[in-house]
Amino acid sequence: MIPFSPPRIDQRVIDEVTSALTSGWITTGPRTKLFEKQLTEYCGNKCTVAVSSWTAGMELILRWWGIGPGDEVIIPAITYCASANVVIHAGAKPVMVDINPDDFNISVEAIRKAITSKTKAIMPVDIAGLPCDYDAIFAIVNEPSIKSLFQANSDYQRKLGRILIAADAAHSFGATYKGKRSGAIADVSCFSFHAVKNLTTAEGGTMSINLPDSFDHEEIYKELCIKILHGQSKDALAKAQKGNWRYDVVEPGFKCNMTDIQAAIGLIELDRFQENLDRRKAICLGYNDGFKNESWALLPKMKDEKRETCYHLYQLRIGGASEVQRDAIMQAIFDQDVSVNVHFQPLPILTAYKKRGYKMEDYPEAWDKYQNEITLPVYFDLTDAQVQIVIQAVKNAVKQVLG
Ligand SMILES: *Cc1c(COP(=O)(O)O)cnc(C)c1O
Repeated sequence: MIPFSPPRIDQRVIDEVTSALTSGWITTGPRTKLFEKQLTEYCGNKCTVAVSSWTAGMELILRWWGIGPGDEVIIPAITYCASANVVIHAGAKPVMVDINPDDFNISVEAIRKAITSKTKAIMPVDIAGLPCDYDAIFAIVNEPSIKSLFQANSDYQRKLGRILIAADAAHSFGATYKGKRSGAIADVSCFSFHAVKNLTTAEGGTMSINLPDSFDHEEIYKELCIKILHGQSKDALAKAQKGNWRYDVVEPGFKCNMTDIQAAIGLIELDRFQENLDRRKAICLGYNDGFKNESWALLPKMKDEKRETCYHLYQLRIGGASEVQRDAIMQAIFDQDVSVNVHFQPLPILTAYKKRGYKMEDYPEAWDKYQNEITLPVYFDLTDAQVQIVIQAVKNAVKQVLG
């Protein structure tokens, strides 16, 4: 069986995790701090706080920004459920909008139509690793008529004076937009280092901040580090220093810090990230090559003048297939011992969101893309021979189902 997305665990990772384990310090400490510093250098943003997951990081960002009951956050209808859930957990309303006709990313025109005086943030999701059109999104939030609609209800909101762009960058670590790396494009970006992502720490993520220069990023870093550890004025490492046991709790904070064991994996992953990215790109181009002469194959957009994906996911679409046929094609692929997936089921077809009144018919592009989409395996250890096996399995399956 060719698995869908196994982690790359080799002796280097095992050795680094072992050194963390035997170092005498396993929770947030020197490795996490080094990892944060290297992430900031790599992405080119202003500060990075490592956390236990994307989900914990993004919920904290929304709360930190003063987003809560009565507020709205715009998200796309196709994304992982986490994008909607963090908005709900913060007490605000996720306003779902449709996606583009030519990729899986949020439609900028649909964003414009959804903005109200309650809109506090827009959460573009860089699906598969392809950055959204951030220039166009920033242009909208900076339009005088949209700015005058904006009603700030926290100091940070007043200081920014417009809607916050908080990117769901769970897929886009290493992707570029006009020469900038993901993390340094939006006001705030959260990465996910979950086991299936293109850079992993088993579980983990970041709050990567890149607000305008008028914000004090050193202060923001300190403030967020306090928030991820119960509002304690000192973290565990500082408290462990000689005679330094007493601390204050300055606010009722959260508990979502990253451990040095996770950071140990992340340091190795980051060190060899380019090698991973090159391999992923070669696999995706191999798939393009394998399918380019098939009349049914709709190949994913991976690059244009402004941006390039980090090749996190290869989203193939089977032109003309219905949802039922797509499911049958997937089954026929599984029957040939190849694992595939779907990214994603649109949120409005899932019970939690249906119950809240979201309707699939309001998002025709999302349905159109979802119904014939199949995500193929992409990871460092996938060999060229396996890529050919996957291509053949897909072709056989399509032939079997569509004739
Ligand atoms: C994986 C993922 C998340 C959640 O990340 P966690 O680290 O598991 O919390 C959020 N958004 C998208 C688009 C994802 O794929």
